[in-house]
Amino acid sequence: MSMGILEKALTKGLSGEGLGPDDALTLVSLPDEEIFTILAITEVVRRTLKGNEVNLCAIVNAKSGLCKEDCSFCSQSVKYSTGINEYAMRPPEEIVSAAKEAAGFGAREFSIVTSGTRVEKEKDVEALIDALASMKDGVAMERCASLGILKRETLKRLKDAGLESFHHNLETGRSFFPNVCTTHAYDDDVEAVRAAKELGFHVCSGGIFGLGEAWEDRIELASTLRELDVDSVPVNFLNPRPGTPLENAKNLAPIECLKIIALLRLMLPKKDIVVCGGRQVNLRDLQPLIFAAGANGMMVGNYLTTPGRDPKDDLQMLTDLGLKPRGL
Ligand code: SF4
Repeated sequence: MSMGILEKALTKGLSGEGLGPDDALTLVSLPDEEIFTILAITEVVRRTLKGNEVNLCAIVNAKSGLCKEDCSFCSQSVKYSTGINEYAMRPPEEIVSAAKEAAGFGAREFSIVTSGTRVEKEKDVEALIDALASMKDGVAMERCASLGILKRETLKRLKDAGLESFHHNLETGRSFFPNVCTTHAYDDDVEAVRAAKELGFHVCSGGIFGLGEAWEDRIELASTLRELDVDSVPVNFLNPRPGTPLENAKNLAPIECLKIIALLRLMLPKKDIVVCGGRQVNLRDLQPLIFAAGANGMMVGNYLTTPGRDPKDDLQMLTDLGLKPRGL
């Protein structure tokens, strides 16, 4: 029986069609001892459809904390006392200088990230437009932003200013979402993703794992991302933050993290799968296996409120694996 699902995973992965929800659940229900058989499949699928290049992206936290939403994993919510550094929108020069620094350590995609439901103050939108204009002239990187549930009109203005990719995570599956956030509806997030797709952005949308969700919830998230036809799927693993409702949550086991990446590669074979926050603490020494599991991208440098590892170590890891950062 297990050979049946493994053969199907390989065939449907390589054809680009991908596994449906029932087959995906059968695959992830295989015992942990099968992990290397699963990785053998996802490695072939990734290499065949995505080649040996790895997309490296980096972010700047351009506006930190003071968010009115209550996402249970997030240290930037005003509802939790987390002691993070809070600040209003950083000036365009600081955003551009962070982009240049990220270009220097190998990132080729750069995302301007802001806390809050959405960016709406005119002076903040203007700061972003200025930063995008300077990046267009002076930094050879794909310009991405994660600015919440934006009004279409604001999205259009940013696109005109040179924004190429738009990021907005759905975080988890629809059924589990009320356990994660109660201050806005799942459909608000879905609508934000849909609007960005309709306006022609490269859309990056994924989630965070390790919130207490079941495999069915992860599969539900992957199915929604398939329906929305997002281009790139960021994968975050919870790094519990002191002061948040999830501060005592247990880290995921490394093999579970690999299975999550494999699930996404096999349900969304043609898409970019990018491993982001929480990879060090959850995967520990198994980090290099994310590529065999199907990832073809990785965030480098610092995360929003936690430090990342030295980008030199990440670049060395790629060289050691025979992989190549895109554009370097
Ligand atoms: S994840 Fe975003 S929307 Fe949710 S609390 Fe954090 S900053 Fe606010």
